[in-house]
Amino acid sequence: MKKITVLIPAYNEALNIPAITEALESLISHSVTLTVENNNGRNTTLVNLSSFQWEYLFVNDGSTDCTLDVLHNLRKENQRVNILNLSRNFGKENAMLAGMDYASGDAVIIMDADLQHPIETIPEMIYWWEQGYDDVYGKRINRGRESWLRRRLSLAYYSMLQGTTSIEILENVGDFRLLDRRVVNAICSLREVNRYTKGLFCWVGYNKKEVQFKTTDRCNGSSRFGICRLFNLGIDGITSYTTKPLRISAVIGFIVSALSLGYMAFTFFKTIFWGEEVIGYPTLICTILLLSGIQLIALGIIGEYLGRIFTESKHRPPYIVESFNEDKK
Ligand code: UDP
Ligand code: MG
Repeated sequence: MKKITVLIPAYNEALNIPAITEALESLISHSVTLTVENNNGRNTTLVNLSSFQWEYLFVNDGSTDCTLDVLHNLRKENQRVNILNLSRNFGKENAMLAGMDYASGDAVIIMDADLQHPIETIPEMIYWWEQGYDDVYGKRINRGRESWLRRRLSLAYYSMLQGTTSIEILENVGDFRLLDRRVVNAICSLREVNRYTKGLFCWVGYNKKEVQFKTTDRCNGSSRFGICRLFNLGIDGITSYTTKPLRISAVIGFIVSALSLGYMAFTFFKTIFWGEEVIGYPTLICTILLLSGIQLIALGIIGEYLGRIFTESKHRPPYIVESFNEDKK
């Protein structure tokens, strides 16, 4: 019997955990009839979810509410619930890695605890997995309640990131996906601390298949990813995925130097042939300010990469486990 792990990173999700567990329990107890589009056209097929062994692996990412207690109470009633308790909040990216390290399934389904990822998509993911796909990823076809600015920034960010690399970055695709054991092992072998998992999924490759889903609004609480945290994740994404910005700053350096040399030659000949009154103070100030700005940006970019080399070179583990399934009380 094949085993499927549902991996759920949870940070202060005490109110959502019972709901998601209940939803999963009712889903896995029966068969689901699906209409799928494959090589032979539209087909109706039956996915028997109860023919799999299930494990729900919750990663408690240093929650400050009673998430851990709620989980232990659930585990007393339901042995499918497994609890990986991290020693503090390491962030969703590292919590997912921790979960993948501890997951024992032949496939791992990653989903959020806030019910924004519809569990009704799971049967379709399993269907494609059984057809031989290794990474069945969920693609949002709507973006839920989100500000206009956030949506624009996110679109601009993805097209910028895509512009810096030849590996395809999938738009509107997040962490909601089913991964075959091969992919899980590949992701687990990448031990960087500054993780940008969305990029890693693309980087490892394998047979990918898209399934579409509609996201809903968060069930309880609010998103932990405000504009600031998203900005930081964005910088992490670029710096952990590509070194293009270094190249771009070098190219800008060359262009500016070439322009300055041209301007120098122009001033030199102009002074020889026509003489020079001492004017040009504003030009001087503008040039100095512009060049210092460019230099600072370039230094900042180098600094970002240097900072990452610094953190990675310490070889610290990406997370620390406080307990696995054991209740201290
Ligand atoms: N999460 C986590 N650690 C964190 C922040 C979030 O494990 O430091 C979990 C959270 O509990 C949820 C998932 O990551 O299950 C997505 O978080 P959230 O809903 O805040 O993000 P969004 O839906 O806005 O991307
Ligand atoms: Mg959410």
